[in-house]
Amino acid sequence: MTQKIPATLIPGDGIGPEISEAVVRILGAIEAPFEWDSQAAGMAGIDAHGDPLPKSLLESIRKTGLALKGPLTTPVGGGFRSVNVTLRKEFELFANLRPARTLISGGRYEDIDLVLFRENLEGYYAAMEHYLPVENDPKAVAISTGYNTRAECRRIITYAFEYAVKNNRKKVTIVHKANILKLLTGLFLEEGREVAKKYEGRVEMNERIVDACAMQLVMDPYQFDVIVTTNLFGDILSDQIAGLIGGLGMAPGANIGEKAAIFEAVHGSAPDIAGKGWANPVALLMASGLMLQHIGRKDLADRLQTGIDGAFASGVRTRDLGGSAGTKEITDAIIHHL
Ligand code: NAD
Repeated sequence: MTQKIPATLIPGDGIGPEISEAVVRILGAIEAPFEWDSQAAGMAGIDAHGDPLPKSLLESIRKTGLALKGPLTTPVGGGFRSVNVTLRKEFELFANLRPARTLISGGRYEDIDLVLFRENLEGYYAAMEHYLPVENDPKAVAISTGYNTRAECRRIITYAFEYAVKNNRKKVTIVHKANILKLLTGLFLEEGREVAKKYEGRVEMNERIVDACAMQLVMDPYQFDVIVTTNLFGDILSDQIAGLIGGLGMAPGANIGEKAAIFEAVHGSAPDIAGKGWANPVALLMASGLMLQHIGRKDLADRLQTGIDGAFASGVRTRDLGGSAGTKEITDAIIHHL
């Protein structure tokens, strides 16, 4: 019998419970080895424990080091901490992985298959910000001081190169703005060049300035394979590459650290369709595929992909994709094609 792997399941808010249930059903059909510990967060966390990020959830992730997270509704007001930012900091989830792969043909581009790694802890997102008053204007000058450390640059870039080796990818592009932000992103580029030397002959490395990269992603996305970049540029470019494959609706993401990794759909809790049985579970399912790869079960991740590709090839489409299938129909179709 396969050894079970304890994993935290956060069903989430809005459509979260519906799509989580679908994903757990599909994972059951391929006998994925997860043993789920279900935990509330977001609005469900507030309802159950008075906290969007309950202690029991943090303890669960501390134990399992592995979580599949449904979308969470951000509470408005009330002074709650941001769940995503707190989780990233708490578990030092330094790498944000965003793959973009064409699932349905007929879009703007065919056969897109690229992966972006965003540094998740530093840069301007860890910035110290303040205003300088001048005469009567208290906000006359806004100042933001971001930082990148050599160690973190090295860690994320090495992670991207290791990913390329393990996943048979040929090229890593280091994206920076070292011509202007000479120190902040110059250090990232410098480390990129150092790390690349260790992979010579195995993985090709090239460099792009972020603005040129944004244009080239639209003009000719096929020249890219794996992209690695700093926090702010990664935030922007990861949504851009989701646009190449038709939007955020089917995009998965992973936040990865040395001690824990959290996998999620990029979309939110879709309160407008919650409870209607219409939600598309594919993004969260793709996130669970990344989770399977993370635990070394690429074989099972490939089976999931076969199921998804088969369901789409048979013409099944949820409403967000212009069809009429509900969560149950697409889930059944995926299971049928596994
Ligand atoms: P959203 O992604 O929830 O919804 C945008 C639109 O896309 C809606 O019309 C929705 O019905 C549709 N949609 C999204 N996912 C879908 C799916 N799987 N199947 C079918 N249709 C889908 O974005 P929003 O409305 O801006 O945000 C709603 C809530 O989610 C907010 O509280 C926001 O803060 C939160 N949010 C959470 C996360 C996260 O937890 N990672 C990410 C984004 C937004």
